Amino acid sequence: MCGIVAYSGYRKATEVLVQGLSRLEYRGYDSSGLCVWDGKQISLRKKVGRIDQLSKLLAAQPVDGAVGISHTRWATHGEPTDANAHPHFDQSGKLALVHNGVIENYQQLKEKLMAEGHEFKSQTDTEVLAHLVGKCYEEQKGAQSPLTAAIKAALVQVTGTYGIAVMHEDHPGVIVGARRGSPLIVGVGKKEYFLASDVTALVAYTHDVIYLNDFDIVEISGAGYHIDSLTQAVNEHHITTVDWDADAASRGAFPHFMLKEIFEQPQSIQNAIRGRLSTEEATAHFGGLNLEPRELRQINRILVTACGTAMHAGMVGEYLIEEHARIPVEVEFASELRYRNSPMDENTAVFVVSQSGETADSLAAMREVKRKGHRALGICNVVGSTIARESDGGIFLHAGPEVGVAATKSFTSQATIFLMLSLYFGRLRHLSPVVGMRILKAIQDLPSKIQEVLDTNEGIRLVAEKYAGAKSMLFLGRQANYPIAMEGALKLKEISYIHAEAYPSAELKHGVIALISPELPTLVICPQDGVYEKNISNIQEVKARKGPVIAVATAGDTHIKKMVDDVIYVPEVDPCVQPILNAIPLQLFAYHIAVKLGCDVDKPRNLAKSVTVE
Ligand code: GLU
Repeated sequence: MCGIVAYSGYRKATEVLVQGLSRLEYRGYDSSGLCVWDGKQISLRKKVGRIDQLSKLLAAQPVDGAVGISHTRWATHGEPTDANAHPHFDQSGKLALVHNGVIENYQQLKEKLMAEGHEFKSQTDTEVLAHLVGKCYEEQKGAQSPLTAAIKAALVQVTGTYGIAVMHEDHPGVIVGARRGSPLIVGVGKKEYFLASDVTALVAYTHDVIYLNDFDIVEISGAGYHIDSLTQAVNEHHITTVDWDADAASRGAFPHFMLKEIFEQPQSIQNAIRGRLSTEEATAHFGGLNLEPRELRQINRILVTACGTAMHAGMVGEYLIEEHARIPVEVEFASELRYRNSPMDENTAVFVVSQSGETADSLAAMREVKRKGHRALGICNVVGSTIARESDGGIFLHAGPEVGVAATKSFTSQATIFLMLSLYFGRLRHLSPVVGMRILKAIQDLPSKIQEVLDTNEGIRLVAEKYAGAKSMLFLGRQANYPIAMEGALKLKEISYIHAEAYPSAELKHGVIALISPELPTLVICPQDGVYEKNISNIQEVKARKGPVIAVATAGDTHIKKMVDDVIYVPEVDPCVQPILNAIPLQLFAYHIAVKLGCDVDKPRNLAKSVTVE
């Protein structure tokens, strides 16, 4: 993970870098640091803790200059400490480097370098890379662009993943970046150029960006940029204009990004739907799948692969696609799929779901699927991300930037995309126009129904706060509400650190019921659907053992109120959208508990948003 920002231009580099880092803090936030060329030397400032710790250090020990590199870390090798924070120097102390990724053979390289007299100050794999590049620099001094040549010579010796930015005292205005497996983009300004892990770091300065590909190496200075390749392959690069501004990535009046993003869902769902529903044909359609209806009809199996929240959205998709299109769907953790030998034939369609489009496990799973000659389709939010670019086609969420580490709006958008896919696939097969129209109308109504749930936020807060003292919780749901229960439990774990588990409601009696006690609250998703009575029986089983129960129930259901301790009502909607709607109160429930406990909602411990390491 980690966030990288580098700058060469005419502004105060420290301000550009710190501002950029604070936009990238969601990617990692255990320590941060920067190096700036101050006219005489490369000055280093780095500090364990959040970026405000770095800002404090800079206030006490300012550094001025117009060229620099910076980093916010999510530790993989070595604890979060001042010494392990980036940037790292080489043996000469003249070359500084920041790195996002993992150098897998760092131990062998380190031993070799130590035998040659190199001394290390940190436990990181990154410092080894800095020393290796520095050593190669000594050997490449006569070359035309010695820094670039040195980086090339070093990277061929490295296994693992990297997005890097490097500067050297002998070339004060120049910064060299390279990537393999970790994202890196070039920001193109006027007489100023940037490198960053993500556009959010740059939109305050430029909207023109170039998404680098794996094995690209780029040199920037105040005068321009030059992209070369670490291999022989020549990649084409285009300047892409980012169509959202800095405000879209700021909190506005909300106390947390997570709450802002929860409240954005009527809009983000609207954006996911826009232009994709046809009332004339009672179906959905997608511009970017790059598959003809004839080809789509041949699909007889769908494999969805993803991690975390995106995986739960895929599971919602499994229920919906099987129900509406009768195509068997399997959902597999990307981290497992990449090392498995899952049988696939030419009629299997693989969907890779990732908000950032950079999730390392999902990307690797996609590459493995493609390597075998299968078609992979991406469902991503970030346009220009690696998965979006390398997939054979796909669907964008258009949800706008999601900054809160705990995913919310991307989840409901992904689930809505799957619902529309189920309609599309269904209508290409047996689904009648009448049923198609029913589903379509339910999708169209979803944004306003979400707004109705959001309007009850205050009531949800009151319920949630009653359970803030719980040590553990259970989440139950049936059918497509089961993955919603899983998502609710994950949200609670992620941001409040309360242990939570989710089960299909009926699974309770097969073991988990042993845990039920007055100390263990159970949240049951229990809308008035085809399995309502079954869920009610499960609620009775919990109550009979004195377990407190919170129900997420259909508005107007007075019957359930008598049975449970607390009810959160949601409007009655078509069963196909009910699970998506039910996700909203669960997000708010977790949010309010975390706030009550004083947790750092937007930056939960140990997590980072875009998991670009394995
Ligand atoms: N491996 C490097 C470190 O631990 C970078 C980690 C990352 O990219 O998250 O410092």
